[in-house]
Amino acid sequence: MIIDNIEFARKSLEFHDTISVLQFNRLEDVLASNKGELDCRLLGKVAIGNRLELELSVRGVLQLTCQRCLEPFDFNLDITSRFIVVNDESDIPSEEDDLEEHDYLIADPKMQLFELIEDEVLLALPLAPKHAGEDCGADSMIAALKKPSPFQALQNLKSK
Ligand SMILES: [Zn+2]
Repeated sequence: MIIDNIEFARKSLEFHDTISVLQFNRLEDVLASNKGELDCRLLGKVAIGNRLELELSVRGVLQLTCQRCLEPFDFNLDITSRFIVVNDESDIPSEEDDLEEHDYLIADPKMQLFELIEDEVLLALPLAPKHAGEDCGADSMIAALKKPSPFQALQNLKSK
């Protein structure tokens, strides 16, 4: 999927598709399972001052591995990213000038849309994914470890 990002914004084009996670090699490496689909939407628009913008939304359920119990769990992904498309690097304001901290894309007649989607999804994933509270099996494992050991029980008998 290749787009001309300047044209896409200028003509206010729209792309919408459901894409299997199998299409994203780098993403596949960090997932517990390559099952699942991402609902992807890209909108082009011309904003105030003829500023060219792209808005990318990605939604879906991904299988991540819990770093506490090492079991897979469903992670709900729902992100929206906005980019300003500029002609070249000199059009990107310095960090001090860009108070709103926009994200920029350089004009590219052959922009790989899937690469952009994959970058944004990877940025949105937690560094140390974990089950939410009680869903995590690690707690019951820890509880099992805390049970008195047979050795401890013997010690108690002896001391009586
Ligand atoms: Zn867990």
